[in-house]
Amino acid sequence: MIVSVLNNKGGTGKTTTAVNLATATAIEGKKTLIVDLDPQGNATTGLGFEKATLSSTVYNILSQSRKAAEVLLNTRIEKLSLLPSNLDLAGAEVELSSTPGREYVLREAISPIKDQFEQVVIDCPPNIGLLTLNALVSSDLVLIPVQCEFYPMEGLPTLLKVMDLVRSRLKAAFDYRIILTMYDRRTALSRRVMQQVNENFGERVLKSVIPRSVRMAEAPSKGLPGILYRPRNPASEQYRVLAKELLQVQPLVAA
Ligand code: ATP
Ligand code: MG
Repeated sequence: MIVSVLNNKGGTGKTTTAVNLATATAIEGKKTLIVDLDPQGNATTGLGFEKATLSSTVYNILSQSRKAAEVLLNTRIEKLSLLPSNLDLAGAEVELSSTPGREYVLREAISPIKDQFEQVVIDCPPNIGLLTLNALVSSDLVLIPVQCEFYPMEGLPTLLKVMDLVRSRLKAAFDYRIILTMYDRRTALSRRVMQQVNENFGERVLKSVIPRSVRMAEAPSKGLPGILYRPRNPASEQYRVLAKELLQVQPLVAA
């Protein structure tokens, strides 16, 4: 299954979720690929790679100068591979705009390698541009991290409308799930956001809820996923639960 971690709002926990979910899935014994589709390259550094020293990146895949198999890196986590990115990827957005079939370049590029993996996780940038559209048409499932710190209802309906448009106009077929992140049970705001999201999105809200944790925020500075940096932390535990929960999800493809 190909899972894109997406929210056009910045800082909602997309990269933290993508990195920890992919790591937890690999630890479960499933061969996993994480695709860093954000020019910020946060998933790449979060897995301990130095962005400046990469010899090829997702940019080369999208500009069709390298095959995906040539860009694949093994990570220090057994069974977890990475397609890394750095700021070069910002150029792909501009270059793709004049490419025929510009929304389908990623899907075609990863199709020769995707069967090697049981789970593919794509970390999206915080906007809806061509990179994100490429992720959406490649996906079976869109995982939307919602931060429990502000009312999400302002942004979510727009995102869902865009997803509907992509399904119908770009002939894509994906379902979605919502994951609550940075939950702090001591605050009334966190509890209200949880209640509001559950009321509005019902069964599309995953049972795992990621608590706020300073250790999760610290982990990328060590080049390690939080679940390896502090395995017994409650947020790490929830990311392991999430990995198992997602392996059970059968995407209902909305018409
Ligand atoms: P962007 O939109 O810039 O790509 P993002 O949605 O990928 O951001 P992250 O980078 O994962 O979000 O997280 C934003 C910030 O919140 C980071 O500093 C991260 O370390 C921190 N963070 C993420 N999850 C948690 C958590 N559960 N507890 C505490 N801090 C967290
Ligand atoms: Mg990010």
